[in-house]
Amino acid sequence: MDFNDTPEEAAFRAEARAWLEKNARPRTSMTPTISGEDLTAEIVKQSQAWQKKKAESGWACITWPKEYGGRGATPIQNAIWGQEQANFETPPDVFSIGIGMCGPTILTHGTPEQKKRWIPKLITGEEIWCQLFSEPSAGSDLAGLRTTAVKQGDEWVVNGQKIWTSGAQICEWGILVVRTDPAVAKHAGLTFFVVNMHSPGIEIRPITQINRGQGFNEVFFTDVRIPDDQRISAVGNGWAVSITTLMNERMSIGSGMGVGAIEDLVGFMDGIEIDGRPASEDRQVRERIAEFVVKARGLKYTSLRTLSALSQGKTPGPEASMSKLVGAVLQQHAASFAMEMAGTSSALRGEAAPAQAAWQERYLSLPGLRIAGGTDEILRNIIAERVLGLPPDARADKGLAFKDVPTGPPKA
Ligand SMILES: Cc1cc2nc3c(=O)[nH]c(=O)nc-3n(C[C@H](O)[C@H](O)[C@H](O)COP(=O)(O)OP(=O)(O)OC[C@H]3O[C@@H](n4cnc5c(N)ncnc54)[C@H](O)[C@@H]3O)c2cc1C
Repeated sequence: MDFNDTPEEAAFRAEARAWLEKNARPRTSMTPTISGEDLTAEIVKQSQAWQKKKAESGWACITWPKEYGGRGATPIQNAIWGQEQANFETPPDVFSIGIGMCGPTILTHGTPEQKKRWIPKLITGEEIWCQLFSEPSAGSDLAGLRTTAVKQGDEWVVNGQKIWTSGAQICEWGILVVRTDPAVAKHAGLTFFVVNMHSPGIEIRPITQINRGQGFNEVFFTDVRIPDDQRISAVGNGWAVSITTLMNERMSIGSGMGVGAIEDLVGFMDGIEIDGRPASEDRQVRERIAEFVVKARGLKYTSLRTLSALSQGKTPGPEASMSKLVGAVLQQHAASFAMEMAGTSSALRGEAAPAQAAWQERYLSLPGLRIAGGTDEILRNIIAERVLGLPPDARADKGLAFKDVPTGPPKA
C-alpha cells in the first residue's frame, strides 16, 4: 500500500484545500458536537447554508452521480475531501443520516424517478432525513420489528412505534422498514419505504438524554398512509435494502474515528498546568497519551486499509466494525482522561470553560456511540464470525414464521 498521493490525487487535494481556504476558517478548536440541546433552528439553518454552499460549488456528496447533482468522484477523492475538510471549522452536521445512509440506500435500490425526486434536495441540503428502524423490542435484532404496513389500494397503512429516531423533529423525510407479512420468517416479511414526516398520524415525542439534549425521539404511527410509489424495492425485500443502509451506517460512523479526538486531547493538555508546567510535559500524562496515540494510529491505518480495498474495487470487509468498536472506546477513555485532568472545572458548562464543556459533552454522548450503529457486543459477534471464523450466534427463531415466534412466558 502506497500512502502518498498520486499526481492526480495531489491536484485534487490542492483544489479541495483552495476551495476550503476561500470558504471556511481553519480549525483552531475542538469540532463542535450536536448535543440535541443544540438542535435549534439556528443550528439547522447554519448546517443547511454550509451544505448549499458546498453543493453550489460541486463539493457536496461528491461520490454521487453527476446526473443527480453529485460530482461522480471516486472513494479515494472522497477520503481526501474528508481529510481536508477536517482541517476547517464547519457547522454541526444535520445531514449525516440523510447523506451517510438514506441517500446511498436510495441510489442503490431506488427507481430512476425516486432518485430524481429525493437525491438532488438531499445534496443541496433543502431536505433533512431520518432513519426509522429501531423499535422498543427490535434494536440489535432489527428483523424482529413489529410496526406493520397493510396495502389498501395504491397506499399502505402503517401502525406501530419506532424509537431512538435521531433528528425526527427536524426532518422532512424518513426511511422506514416495516412488517408486511407476518406469515413468513422474520427477515422475509419486511418492506422498505420513504415516509413524509409531516404525514397525518405521525406523532414525534422527543426523549431527554443524560446531556440534557433531545437528539432522538419516539415516533408513533397511527393509520399513516404511504403511497406505493414511496416503496423502495419489492414487497418483502426490505431486509436486503436495510442491509445497504446498515453497511453505510457502519462505514460512515466507523471511518477515521478517534484520530481527531486524540489530537484534541494533546492540544487540551498543552493548556492545562501541573506544578506550573504544561500537563503535556508530565511523564505520566505523556505515557497515557502515548497509549491513546498508538491506538489512534492503528485506527488510522485500518481506515486506510478500507480505502485501499475501495480503490481496488473491492468491498470493504469488517474493518468498519473494528474501527467503530475500538474508536468509540478510545474516544470515551480520552474524554474521561481529559475530565480527570481538568479536575473540578470539568463540571462547568458553556462559555465559562468552553474546552471543558466540550469534553464534558463528549463524555456524556460517547456511551451512545457505543450503542448506535451496532453495540459493542454485536460488533464483537461480527468480528468473531467474519474475521475469526467462530461458530455463529445461536438463533432460536431461525426458519419460524414471524407470527409463530414465541414472545411471552411459556404457556402453562
Ligand atoms: C445516539 C443514538 C442514536 C440512535 N439513532 C437511531 C436512529 O436515528 N434510528 C434508529 O432506527 N435507531 C437509532 N438508534 C438505535 C440503535 O440502533 C439501537 O439502540 C441499537 O441497535 C441497539 O438496540 P437496542 O437499544 O434495542 O438494544 P438491544 O438490542 O435490546 O440490546 C441490549 C443489550 O443486549 C446486547 N445484545 C443484544 N443482542 C445480543 C447478541 N446477539 N449477542 C450479545 N449481546 C447482545 C446489546 O449489546 C446490548 O448491550 C440510536 C441509538 C443511539 C444510542
